[in-house]
Amino acid sequence: MRTRDRLRIAIQKSGRLSGPSRQLLAGAGLRFGDDGDQLFQPGRDLPVDLLLVRDDDIPGLIAEGVADLGVVGRNVLEEQALERMDGIGPGPFRSLRELGFGRCRLSLAVPADWDWPGPSRLQGLRIATSYPRLLERWLRERGIVARAVKLSGSVEIAPRLGTADAICDLVSTGATLAANRLREVERVLSSQAVLAAPARPFGDARDGLAAMLLRRLAATSRERV
Ligand code: ATP
Ligand code: ZN
Repeated sequence: MRTRDRLRIAIQKSGRLSGPSRQLLAGAGLRFGDDGDQLFQPGRDLPVDLLLVRDDDIPGLIAEGVADLGVVGRNVLEEQALERMDGIGPGPFRSLRELGFGRCRLSLAVPADWDWPGPSRLQGLRIATSYPRLLERWLRERGIVARAVKLSGSVEIAPRLGTADAICDLVSTGATLAANRLREVERVLSSQAVLAAPARPFGDARDGLAAMLLRRLAATSRERV
């Protein structure tokens, strides 16, 4: 493995996590230069650089060593960890710290007029989701056989289109579910943004830089209390 003396942190370029991610790093005293680049911003005072990407790309970039750390939802991190694991053993990622923003839940929702005797109601049905691995794990733990239909967007309209019977999607207020005449019935995962890292230490200067970042994050969150 190549040793490196700069730490590269991936954050979402634009979306729900981008503003809070930038604030988090600014609060830890990290400043980044523009460099005229849309994707890469070099650290101004410290050897810590920024990579601006789609949130879904962050776990893969960490797994490939393109990014060292990332700010990403637990939902995305765990789904992609399961995708890369296929079985038992330790996962490819570690979550170093929960960050307290981007809170949401991955929930099952069914048509509003259904009875809900419990999870067994899903037996044999099709469930639309962008998180098939998390859903399949939840179903397996409950001994339910159902089919996860993977959709990358507009999951909530699947029951009306007839492509699925129920959905498993991210919820924060529930307004989207109500607008689509769906009812939240079970929580599959509680999520928030986390600071993600590879499962194993870097073995070079990046370990010290990551430790410094964690100390600064702990100090700023204590100040906020
Ligand atoms: P990108 O273009 O980067 O792929 P996106 O559309 O996938 O963006 P956002 O909608 O910005 O991403 O959501 C990013 C993350 O924000 C989610 O993965 C989740 O962790 C968190 N989040 C918090 N609340 C919600 C919500 N109500 N719906 C969806 N995601 C939410
Ligand atoms: Zn995304």
